[in-house]
Amino acid sequence: MSTIYNQRKKIVVIGSSNTDMTVKAQRLPIPGETILGGTFIMNPGGKGANQAIAAARLGADVTFISKIGNDLFGIQALETYKSEMIKTEYIFTDNQNPSGVALISIDSFGENCIIVAAGANMSLSPQDINKAFNSIKEADVILIQLEIPLDTVEYAVDMAYGLGKKVILKPAPARPLSVKLIKKLYAIVPNRVEAEILTGIKVSDEKSAHKAAQIISRKGVGNVVVTMGKNGAFVKEGDACRWLLAKDVETVDTTGSGDVFCGALSVYLSEGYSLMESVAFANTAAAIAVTRIGAQSAIPFRYEVDIT
Ligand code: ADP
Repeated sequence: MSTIYNQRKKIVVIGSSNTDMTVKAQRLPIPGETILGGTFIMNPGGKGANQAIAAARLGADVTFISKIGNDLFGIQALETYKSEMIKTEYIFTDNQNPSGVALISIDSFGENCIIVAAGANMSLSPQDINKAFNSIKEADVILIQLEIPLDTVEYAVDMAYGLGKKVILKPAPARPLSVKLIKKLYAIVPNRVEAEILTGIKVSDEKSAHKAAQIISRKGVGNVVVTMGKNGAFVKEGDACRWLLAKDVETVDTTGSGDVFCGALSVYLSEGYSLMESVAFANTAAAIAVTRIGAQSAIPFRYEVDIT
């Protein structure tokens, strides 16, 4: 099914906007040391932004609810979202805090150290969510992560649930979540590490994925999708469980593959496909992304997934 522009489904993404600043060096410095690095790369990032761009490129009419600082990084991020056809009227500006940044160092083996200064992301408030009420009311699917204050996540999920909306949570960065929050979700999409933090089960194979999904599901969410990197995804939909294998591709860079997966899953669900069909679509979209360098730059467009 191809998507005609004016038939695009409405997805509201609520989450973080960051700028990733990466320096590559032979090795990582030890505390107190200054070393000379090599290449410097600056890229837009943040799980919220990555998922919003993924959903937009994959065919949805996306509204992004987020907060940026009153600075150049914020202005640049806003330009990026506009160029992706994302609706930006609920991207708020915080005059007190800077835009979120991630400072990333990578050594010659690909090992990294990352410090995130969340800045304005941490002032996205329930009041901001209230301002976007009409947009949430009109949405087909709401997609949210945990790089913003937890009380804002809880408030937004509560509002969306009250409006009868399908809410999908990518629980990253992972942290314990209340049953009250989990019960209001349509689906939760942890990766292996996030699933382990939520359940205490080390997820490495089908059996452990099944167990972790079962524990999460018992907290009150019917649909659990545990993403398993190059192994695809384990899906628990009510009592039905299935392992959907990833596409076999030449992996170049897996940064942000989980975000592409969540964006794609939301798009297909918003179009009325089943959870299993949506996970298959998400596996295909994320597999294309891992064959390319970068996070946002690697996100595929709909036609690329449709022809695969
Ligand atoms: P995260 O990026 O959140 O850690 P995963 O590593 O589980 O998430 O990856 C998310 C999805 O991306 C997987 O479920 C799969 O569909 C796809 N994916 C990740 N790595 C690969 C790979 N090497 N080959 C093919 N698909 C992959």
